Amino acid sequence: SAAIEEEPIKPSIQVEHTQLLIDGKFVDAASGKTFQTLDPRTGEVIAHVAEGHSEDVDRAVSAARKAFDHGPWPKMTAYERQRILLRVADLIEKHNDELAALETWDNGKPYEQAAKIEVPMLVRLIRYYAGWADKIHGLTVPADGPYHVQTLHEPIGVAGQIIPWNFPLLMFAWKVGPALACGNTIVLKTAEQTPLSALYAAKLFHEAGLPAGVLNVVSGFGPTAGAALASHMEVDKLAFTGSTDTGKVVLELAAKSNLKPVTLELGGKSPFIVCEDADVDQAVELAHFALFFNQGQCCCAGSRTFVHENVYEEFVQKAKARALRRVVGDPFKGGIEQGPQIDSDQFEKILRYIRSGVESGATLETGGDKLGNKGFYIQPTVFSNVKDGMLIAKDEIFGPVQSILKFKDLGEVVQRANNTRYGLAAGVFTKNMDTANTLTRALRVGTVWINCFDTFDAAIPFGGYKMSGQGREKGEYSLKNYLQVKAVVNPLKNPAW
Ligand code: ADP
Repeated sequence: SAAIEEEPIKPSIQVEHTQLLIDGKFVDAASGKTFQTLDPRTGEVIAHVAEGHSEDVDRAVSAARKAFDHGPWPKMTAYERQRILLRVADLIEKHNDELAALETWDNGKPYEQAAKIEVPMLVRLIRYYAGWADKIHGLTVPADGPYHVQTLHEPIGVAGQIIPWNFPLLMFAWKVGPALACGNTIVLKTAEQTPLSALYAAKLFHEAGLPAGVLNVVSGFGPTAGAALASHMEVDKLAFTGSTDTGKVVLELAAKSNLKPVTLELGGKSPFIVCEDADVDQAVELAHFALFFNQGQCCCAGSRTFVHENVYEEFVQKAKARALRRVVGDPFKGGIEQGPQIDSDQFEKILRYIRSGVESGATLETGGDKLGNKGFYIQPTVFSNVKDGMLIAKDEIFGPVQSILKFKDLGEVVQRANNTRYGLAAGVFTKNMDTANTLTRALRVGTVWINCFDTFDAAIPFGGYKMSGQGREKGEYSLKNYLQVKAVVNPLKNPAW
């Protein structure tokens, strides 16, 4: 891809917000420190961003605490909260292109995807949860004895939210949408690689009328700002998306501090199963998308492509040809399918996994190296002859590396697909409904996509079995993460009536 050697395209926006957003105002970190956020196309500095530490997390939590305990947010009518969230969605829609440009600049993902898919999904999700705001209510319970019993569904309080860098805006939306609809207040920590878009979006929330202190955004690093949030005594709930290793750390911090409940959305090694009756061309295209989408940086990436032996040779040749056609280049350019990886750590890690694949005897069909001499671009890479025990079949690579494995029958592929510590998602490719039903029920995963993949909708719950996480985000299921249930028991004077 010659494009990578050219000068990077200049983004059409400027970075406006680099400070912390606390109590409705942009402020410097207490220490005055900043860190650099880098352009993955070049490794050069985009901006210096205020670096939050525990003192800043304290300030943000105090603001959120005050906004929760004294209102007005949780005390407003649900309809008023809904109207603010709907105005937020309108404003985000209006600033679609600016948000998409910031996202591409900071993250490296193709601008067309950010502008046409991701920001519109953010808008859709905020509208979806705005719709829930005035439909949250408890039950009347038929208890034994002369009692009138009901449940109140109340906001849980101050939510601490920690998000990753692969979908900065979408992860922001999955977290703040349900939390705000339920009437909570928030301190959100962005990933240190991608602090910019959430600051811009959070400013729009305030422009739309969100009261000060309801949504605070702290940029900074995990072991400092993130750990301070996870272990804070005044934070009532923690929601985390990131690696399984860090998930264990934050769960422990939450337990050791105040036992705040935690939802976790962690890693995966999702199987993509191509049965012998599948439409091979369509399966190749979707398996390609399942793995390479977002530079391979998806927790639910279809990173173990299991193909039935009868269609295996054809599939491998076509998967290779498709990877060779993949258009890699400056993500601001039109028609680009793949931009650079997020940073040098991920870039080096992916190249190490590629070397390990070659050393362990998998067949490198195409790719296998970096691309260009600038930034963090990697060639679309396909391995065939991958065996279950190889590191590339076991670990989450989080890069553009497809691993193709051969299978003979359904019982075998179920056993192998489930033989992992993860359980986030699976793809099933077949024209036979019985096969699809059998696989769907046998796979221990939070999402099964049948003859499709990565279909994300605000209403569909997402989350993992096993070490892929705890709890579900999106859909009605996510509301439960942000609500307390209060049972109210009231004796009846005249039970006979
Ligand atoms: P990745 O490997 O994808 O960067 P991480 O799990 O390290 O995944 O990061 C996801 C988020 O978790 C980021 O916002 C990061 O700053 C944060 N994080 C990392 N380490 C910690 C920690 N010890 N405590 C709290 N948050 C952390």
